[in-house]
Amino acid sequence: MINLLELTLSELQNLFVEKGIQKFRAKQIMNWIYQKNCYDFSKMSNLSKDFRVSLRKDYSIRLPELRDKQVSALDGTRKYLWVLDDSELIESVLLIHPKRVTACISTQVGCKLDCAFCATGKGGFTRNLKVSEIIGQILSMEKDFGEKITNVVFMGMGEPMLNYNSVKKSIEMINSKDMLNISKRRIAVSTAGIIPGIENMAEDFPEVVLSISLHAPDNSVREKLMPVNNLFSFPELIQAIKAYNEKTSKRVTIEYILIKDVNDSRNDARTLAKNLKQLKVNINLIPINPVEGDFERPSEKHISDFKEILEKNGFETVLRHEKGTDISGACGQLRGKK
Ligand code: SAH
Repeated sequence: MINLLELTLSELQNLFVEKGIQKFRAKQIMNWIYQKNCYDFSKMSNLSKDFRVSLRKDYSIRLPELRDKQVSALDGTRKYLWVLDDSELIESVLLIHPKRVTACISTQVGCKLDCAFCATGKGGFTRNLKVSEIIGQILSMEKDFGEKITNVVFMGMGEPMLNYNSVKKSIEMINSKDMLNISKRRIAVSTAGIIPGIENMAEDFPEVVLSISLHAPDNSVREKLMPVNNLFSFPELIQAIKAYNEKTSKRVTIEYILIKDVNDSRNDARTLAKNLKQLKVNINLIPINPVEGDFERPSEKHISDFKEILEKNGFETVLRHEKGTDISGACGQLRGKK
């Protein structure tokens, strides 16, 4: 049994051609799924009854099942907890804005990287998500919310670059005119700094927005916060961003969590500015969202001083307003538990 959410249009067309089924049927079915949000063969009224019955023998359309949903009283952000076929749990977040609806999706059950400040890594790593589970999060949220999703960010649980093949195919399906039809400029992928992944993005998807979770002004601070720095060090990462800039002529977004007394001093800001000097970047500052552990948010004064130093050094810097903190739906707060 093949879950149709695993397949691109051309893959389904090829399967149909092999079986002697007319090729245009594949497009009709994708249209039911992706344009009409219909996941039931028996309702696909432009297909003959016999064909619908035969489809059910070989194919399914399976979405992750909703286990729990929380809606933020602060900003309407929705956090979803899904159960997968093997009973594993993952979360996704829907961010609602007057002009856009953004799906923040997961790529793995858990995460291997174990960043000190992030809740997802605390439970360890279980497995990669399948393409159908990545695409299924988007379709399920669209179904629940009842409006078209306009933007997709790979910023939920897991490290997208360690599940690159599925992420790549998912991006193609999200972008495809016959599927979710979301422009590449409205898709963003975030990485904790897996350099081969950054190289792949430059090669495969130069139009997709790339975010780097840097979170430290230099190698010694990053080493303490992010074990991945032992694999791909701070200086190597800076070189990889430079190569990305050169290859794509595009900026990357640097994500920088501000943590009190860890990476938030004026000196840290100056060091960061110095180390990013050669690069084309925008900087997002994110005062740390509460998770278990000792990390605290800096004072407003520290935050604005930090921002000011970066701006004086010519960096476009945005202070990100956290969303959905009351439902633990903000960056780094997804655990995949009820
Ligand atoms: N593994 C990828 C994708 C996850 S995106 C990556 O690291 O980029 C989730 C974002 O939330 C990352 O930028 C992550 O560093 C950030 N984050 C993790 N814990 C956080 C916290 N407690 N407060 C704010 N942001 C956090």
